[in-house]
Amino acid sequence: MTFSIHGLAVARGIAIGRAVLVASSRVDVAHYFIEASQVPAEIDRVRIGRNAVVDEIHRLQASITHMGPKEAPHELTALLDVHLMLLQDDELISGVKHWITDRLYNAEWALTTQLEVIARQFDEMEDEYLRERKADLEQITEKVLRAMKGVASPVVQQLGRAARKKSQQDLLLDDTVDVPLILIAHDLSPADMLQFKQSVFAGFITDVGGKTSHTAIVARSLDIPAVVGARLSSQLVRQDDWVIIDGDAGVVVVDPSSIILAEYGFKQRQGELERGRLGRLLHTPAITLDGQKIELLANIEMPEDAPIAIKAGAVGVGLFRSEFLFMGRQGKLPNEEEQYQAYRRAVEGMHGLPVTIRTVDVGADKPLDESLQDSAHLNPALGLRAIRWSLADPAMFLTQLRAILRAAAHGRANLLIPMLVHASEIRHTFALIDRARAELDNRGVAYGPVKIGAMIEIPAAALTLKVFLKYFDFLSIGTNDLIQYTLAIDRADESVAHLYDPLHPAVLGLVAQTIAECRAQGKGVSVCGEMAGDVSLTRLLLGMGLRSFSMHPAQILAVKQEVLRADAGKLVAWAEQVLANDEPGLLMKNHH
Ligand code: PEP
Ligand code: MG
Repeated sequence: MTFSIHGLAVARGIAIGRAVLVASSRVDVAHYFIEASQVPAEIDRVRIGRNAVVDEIHRLQASITHMGPKEAPHELTALLDVHLMLLQDDELISGVKHWITDRLYNAEWALTTQLEVIARQFDEMEDEYLRERKADLEQITEKVLRAMKGVASPVVQQLGRAARKKSQQDLLLDDTVDVPLILIAHDLSPADMLQFKQSVFAGFITDVGGKTSHTAIVARSLDIPAVVGARLSSQLVRQDDWVIIDGDAGVVVVDPSSIILAEYGFKQRQGELERGRLGRLLHTPAITLDGQKIELLANIEMPEDAPIAIKAGAVGVGLFRSEFLFMGRQGKLPNEEEQYQAYRRAVEGMHGLPVTIRTVDVGADKPLDESLQDSAHLNPALGLRAIRWSLADPAMFLTQLRAILRAAAHGRANLLIPMLVHASEIRHTFALIDRARAELDNRGVAYGPVKIGAMIEIPAAALTLKVFLKYFDFLSIGTNDLIQYTLAIDRADESVAHLYDPLHPAVLGLVAQTIAECRAQGKGVSVCGEMAGDVSLTRLLLGMGLRSFSMHPAQILAVKQEVLRADAGKLVAWAEQVLANDEPGLLMKNHH
């Protein structure tokens, strides 16, 4: 039966495909397709992994029987029996075979998919004892996965998502192997999302998360349809259900009827046509009707994104979120050489265009590593985050600064510092930058010049711009956090997402004031939060005097289209009106 789930729209477009439910803890399992010829070998890998675990249990059982009845607790023997039974369960074995044979999933993916199917059945059981066997099932799956690690897949073939894109017509005709897949999880960390770059999935749905949570930001950078904050989706949707993601409306349609499927198929094609039309603007300079040159820059997460930024028509990188180099490494941070190589790749990848590298911003909804997440900090968004974290560990910060300065010798690099608020933090930061240069001088290592900028993302910073303008070459407004901290709305919490409002007069006031003061002093200013890539806000920001926007590469052409249609001079008076209004959102609606 068709039903829909409403969440938050984070990445544009329509995706239609089958649901793949992935437990949050299992996203690090490899997901790729195998060739039909690899099927027997892949089934063999699961068999070998399973047999290894069965053997291990048999060994344990044997050692227990040597003990006296006193030392061998009855619970343990019973548990081992249950584990053996689960390992030999027909449904597990035939299910895994099905995912490998019929869907060409790799062995690990097939195993975890079948685990999700059976776990759901356990969840629905009345009997509490049986319900609790789910934990045993998870344990043995974990063991099999570990045993399989030693048995390599013959050929690891990563299929790009483009290769698997199917038209609506194909979907109706061919319901077997080649259908797009939609990933559904309760939660995904930004680092998990990063793993799914180049992945097999055509869309994402998560139960939790806000529009500007970092998970949503990475989903947007992947430029595939996604909905977050879809509450119970991971419980309501079953493995393999047909689902439609409407990334523009934030709606998920489950088990759609053929009429609905056809309707969304049409919408999907319209979207593709629109993208094709926008593609023609690639080489058109971003200049308003009244001749104002607008700088459209890219936000990137990895050096490998640089070519994507160039292809999208970016004239530089306005925000390289360096923290993604630091995540998911079990706490082992990248050393100077590794960081230097990464920044250098980004700088060289932009072929002479500027790259603004932001120093590490971990904490809050960007944990370094899930297992290291420190729940002792009750309010991580207000805690040891970004520059606070860097200043708390000067050796680590100096390592990053040296790496960035060295990369600057290979092209145009700017240095951007996140979350500053105190003058003392600014002084401290500059002292460390000087020290990093001195250390490189002492070592006789080459480095290049950098412009140094600060993010304005805490209201207190926006209210004390004077001190920032004294020290910095340029400012970059991080509206994602500026909104979060001005309105006291956790950007990652879907339950208050309706109150997260870029058009609140207080937010607009801080943004407008920052732009105006920078311009008055001849300092560069850009917006690098999600507001910069929102086409419904382009005119307003132009009217406020903004001339530099940094956003996901996928948003650049749509924003350029707005720029080309705008008369920046004429928008000034209108923007003033919007700023003076109690409910700017209403005025904006009428204007569009
Ligand atoms: C912001 O806060 O607007 C920003 C660009 O930084 P991040 O989203 O990485 O916190
Ligand atoms: Mg921020």
